[in-house]
Amino acid sequence: MNELKSFEKLKDCLERFPSIGAKSAERIAYNLLEMSDEEVEEFLASIKEAKNKIHHCPNCGLLTEDSLCNVCSSSLRNHSLCILIRDSKEIDFFEKVETFNGVYHVINCNINPTKQETWEKSGLNKLLERVEKENIKEVIFTFGGTIEEEITISIIKNFLQKKNVKVSRIASGIPHGQSLEYLDSVTLKNALEGRTEINK
Ligand SMILES: [Zn+2]
Repeated sequence: MNELKSFEKLKDCLERFPSIGAKSAERIAYNLLEMSDEEVEEFLASIKEAKNKIHHCPNCGLLTEDSLCNVCSSSLRNHSLCILIRDSKEIDFFEKVETFNGVYHVINCNINPTKQETWEKSGLNKLLERVEKENIKEVIFTFGGTIEEEITISIIKNFLQKKNVKVSRIASGIPHGQSLEYLDSVTLKNALEGRTEINK
C-alpha cells in the first residue's frame, strides 16, 4: 500500500487531543476526507472564529468573547462569594448547582514558592486585587489532595486570611483528586453546602 503522508500527518494532529487514541484519530481522519470542500471550509472557519473571538476574562480567567465574562459583568451575581477552580471549563459543573450564585476565579497552576513564574501565572495577585475591588468575603477551594495543591492552598489561604476573607473547602464527600467531571450536580451541591472553613 502506498504511503499516505498527508493522512498520517492529519492523524498525528488529531491524536494531540486528550482522550483521542490512534484508532479514533484514524476514524475521524477518514470522516474528514469524506467531507465536501464546503464542509471543510466551514469547519476550518469555525475553528479560526473561535480562536479569534474567545479569550480569558482578564478579571477571573474564565473563557469569554467579551471584554469581561458574563459572570464578572453581572450585577445579579453575589460577588462576595468566590469559587476557586483550576480550569475555566470547570465553571460548567458549578453553574448546574442552582443554589450557587457567586463568582469564580481560575488558579492556573500550582504555586511553587521557589519559582517566581508560578506566582505570576497562578492568578493569585489578580485574586487579591479582586478581594479589595469586589469586596470578596469568602473563597471556596474546590481542589486539593496532592502535595503541590495543598502547598498552593496553604499559600493562597494565608494571603486571604490576612485580608480577613473566610476560606473554606468543599466537603470531603469528593474523593481527593477525583475529577469534578464525574460528579453529578446533586453531589456537587451537597459538597458546596457542606463546605468547611479552613482554620487560621
Ligand atoms: Zn470574569
